[in-house]
Amino acid sequence: MPHAVAGPFPAGINYSAGQLDPTACRLSPAPAGTIRPVRRSYYDPSSAPGKGVVWEVPTVPVKNLTGSSPVNPALAGITGILMSAAGLPVCLTRPPKLVLHPPPVSKSDIQAIPGISHTCRKTTKKQAKKGKTPEEVLKKYLQKVRHPPDEDCTICMERLSAPSGYKGPQPAVKPDLVGKLAKCGHVFHLHCLVAMYNNGNKDGSLQCPTCKTIYGVKTGTQPPGKMEYHIIPHALPGHSDCKTIRIIYNIPPGVQGPEHPNPGKSFTARGFPRHCYLPDSEKGRKVLKLLLVAWDRRLIFAIGTSSTTGESDTVIWNEIHHKTEFGSNLTGHGYPDGNYLDNVLAELAAQGITEESLAQEKD
Ligand SMILES: [Zn+2]
Ligand SMILES: [Zn+2]
Repeated sequence: MPHAVAGPFPAGINYSAGQLDPTACRLSPAPAGTIRPVRRSYYDPSSAPGKGVVWEVPTVPVKNLTGSSPVNPALAGITGILMSAAGLPVCLTRPPKLVLHPPPVSKSDIQAIPGISHTCRKTTKKQAKKGKTPEEVLKKYLQKVRHPPDEDCTICMERLSAPSGYKGPQPAVKPDLVGKLAKCGHVFHLHCLVAMYNNGNKDGSLQCPTCKTIYGVKTGTQPPGKMEYHIIPHALPGHSDCKTIRIIYNIPPGVQGPEHPNPGKSFTARGFPRHCYLPDSEKGRKVLKLLLVAWDRRLIFAIGTSSTTGESDTVIWNEIHHKTEFGSNLTGHGYPDGNYLDNVLAELAAQGITEESLAQEKD
């Protein structure tokens, strides 16, 4: 696809993009205001630097869940166009390179994180002790409602003044009893709350289905595995003032337990060990401490269907985002990302994990 090139060239000669422009090495300035034709979205391995094409990067689909990550490839492409408009005959923008891993780190370079004991933990307690009936669990979080408000129960969609419309296995409570959750004040049929509790992992906690307020300590269904964490002597983009905390998760494949989607069926575990990175700053260390709580509560991973591959019965991330790209941000899971630490703190809080949880965990 040849382009006619405007500028100080012999009339009647067209220079094709991709061919060496004979005037390029002379660096004669183009007349002011001339915008050179460039080939957009062009990426050809043979068009190496120096061959006279504006080297635009292919657009990398960026899954940006938080809306905070800068989309670098697009910016790089724009820079290339702006530079070519400045009148230089040959302007190249290097395609951003995916840098997933830090430079090699020897064992002696790895340090424990001050203030955080150990550098590794395995899955600790399997699950919070059971033994309490759902009714006993719920009683702690509920207040009695004598006169139900004239509203729908958002679990069964029947009026609260009418009996519960829940049709599944019948819990041992009367279908017309109504309870109010103590902290958030949302009102449901008791019957519906018990049914909801029985459908979950029955860990002694309850989450309001309307506003997500957590009662008790929420735990997840993360399968057994290992979490390692230590400092490596390299800095992340955007955090040049500190070293880096590296987290290595390792979860082997196995068989699903009663708390998983398909009990007794095997599950796969792809891409382990998974390496993740945090800046070794004060805030980064705080995030790590809360991630350790999340790990102990089995909330980092779950078993389900992968949103990237569509594979079911596999280990997936569970709503707490991790940065798996060390030196670039082409996937949206890298650095720099100025909002990441705040975003992950909010995601941890949504799972009931805050600074108060650190004190709670000690007892
Ligand atoms: Zn109901
Ligand atoms: Zn609520």
